[in-house]
This record gives sequence, C-alpha cells and structure tokens, in this order.
Amino acid sequence: MDAKQLQLKEKLESLLRDTSLVAAELQALNQGKGIPHYDDIELPAHDVGKRLSRAIQMERAREVAASELKGTRCPDCRQQCKVEIEVRNVHSMDGPIELTEPVAHCRRCRRSFFPSA
Ligand SMILES: [Zn+2]
Repeated sequence: MDAKQLQLKEKLESLLRDTSLVAAELQALNQGKGIPHYDDIELPAHDVGKRLSRAIQMERAREVAASELKGTRCPDCRQQCKVEIEVRNVHSMDGPIELTEPVAHCRRCRRSFFPSA
C-alpha cells in the first residue's frame, strides 16, 4: 500500500467514525426518549449503509465514465468514435441509483456500443 492509499484509508476511517456518530445522534433524536428495540437501531443504521453504498457506486461509475471520454474505436470498422455520457436508472443491490455510463456512437456503422465491452 503506497502513501496515497494509506492516507485515503485513514481518511475513510475517520469519516466513517464521524458519520456513525452523526447517524447515531440523529437516530436518537428521531426516536426520542425510551429504550429502542434493537431492530429500531439496526434497520435505520442499515439504511444509512445502503445510502453510502449507492453514493459510492454513482461516484465511481462517474469516474470510470469520464475516463472513457477520450474516444474509442468501433469494434466493427475501427473508426475513431466519439464517446458520450448517458445516465440511466438502475436498481443496485442497495437500491436505485443513477448509473453514469460511457456510450460510443459509430457514425459509419450507425450503431452505439459500450467502449469497455
Ligand atoms: Zn463502425
């Protein structure tokens, strides 16, 4: 693990600690006084985890799509093709996300394709 990876890993640990404190405090305010059943703690915590997962998926997909914007060659005619970004709604295992995808268009073949496919 290089220095940048170590720095990012430590930053993630710190942000997760802070996030869990904020989520727990918000959960306590939402629940008010009294002793909650454990399900009342676990289920909202799991919802926050799913939100984090969806946010990571959308961010990472945006990064990957942006890296493909330089263009690509058509797999059929080898013509250099323009790549555009398209957004579509996808149901991930953690709920709905807007997935950003690179889509290339070959004008010669009149077809669209995914550059990384
Ligand atoms: Zn083509």
